[in-house]
Amino acid sequence: MLKNTTWTVKSLSRPTGSAAVRCSSGASSLDKLARQVTSSTVDGAFSGEENALALKAAPFSEENFGKRARVKFLTQAMAVGLANVPSQLHKAYWNTFYCSSTMQERSDGKTVAKFCKNRWCLVCCRIRSAKLIKQYAPLLKSWTEKHLVTLTVPNCSRADLEATVQQMKAGFDTIRRSWTMQHRRGQRPAPLIALRKLEATHNPDSDTYHPHFHLVVPDLATANELRVSWLSQFPSAKWNGQDVRPADAGASHELFKYFTKLITTQSKERFIRLGPLNAIFEAIAGGRTFQVFGIKVPKVDEQLVDEAAEALADELNIVAVWDWVQEVGNWVNKETGELRTKYKPSPEFRAFVETKIVYNSIKKKTS
Ligand SMILES: [Zn+2]
Repeated sequence: MLKNTTWTVKSLSRPTGSAAVRCSSGASSLDKLARQVTSSTVDGAFSGEENALALKAAPFSEENFGKRARVKFLTQAMAVGLANVPSQLHKAYWNTFYCSSTMQERSDGKTVAKFCKNRWCLVCCRIRSAKLIKQYAPLLKSWTEKHLVTLTVPNCSRADLEATVQQMKAGFDTIRRSWTMQHRRGQRPAPLIALRKLEATHNPDSDTYHPHFHLVVPDLATANELRVSWLSQFPSAKWNGQDVRPADAGASHELFKYFTKLITTQSKERFIRLGPLNAIFEAIAGGRTFQVFGIKVPKVDEQLVDEAAEALADELNIVAVWDWVQEVGNWVNKETGELRTKYKPSPEFRAFVETKIVYNSIKKKTS
């Protein structure tokens, strides 16, 4: 008999401060102490899950805000679901629920909203990805021989996920340090130069997790040597589990996108599985997902600098306020009922968001 492990978002409770939960598995985090999130990192915007919402202002454009509406529609449903999973990230998930829920239009035409900056929030991921692409595009363009490297270890259980991620980071660090030493001794032309992203996915068939690194390195020789070094650090990892291939600009930009695939496909059905996602988010809470090695971090375009201070100063100049209404899939003007964007969820996308975000619907073969 299949256990009742499937939720739909519609059945989940609204914000109450405590999670009303019905799930039959995946509560292993309850006895863990909530870890402090203290690191200030390259992907710092994504490391402060406990932080309050941050104000940002941006000029309104239908194209940009229409896309924001689409990802908000999905993220909103996911946030409600995640907030109902027993998790040390409970508060952070509710922050995502409120992320850009209210948009205030200022007299200068800019729109002010508060953002959660959490790594699972697709609204914030869009902003973060755009910023990273802009930041690193010139460097990546200058690497004409660049290669993508994927470094993996054998899949692990949920219980081992966090430790596995730590081991991978430590193993990589050992490689980096030994390359630096070799470079100093004149045995190597350069220290390790790479952009690295940590990703983790869940395999619903085996119920195992697959943490891995994606890297962009300047040339094929670096890519191949990195693969060899990795295998010497992790003898249980398979040679053909590691991938090396030439990278074009598009492939490099993948590095700046979401750190986990939200959607898993099983028996041709697409799901967002909240239990496994929560396990992944907990395992990397407070850590970096994007990091660079041997590279001076390029300066961020001045126009992309946080406009929080400016937004605060201008709060008196608010001319209109829109609130997110999930049923509509849009921000609605409180006074006029007007919609902020022309975005309208397609029936297919609405059906996906409303029925396919589940706790963990691992299908078992029935006789
Ligand atoms: Zn957000």
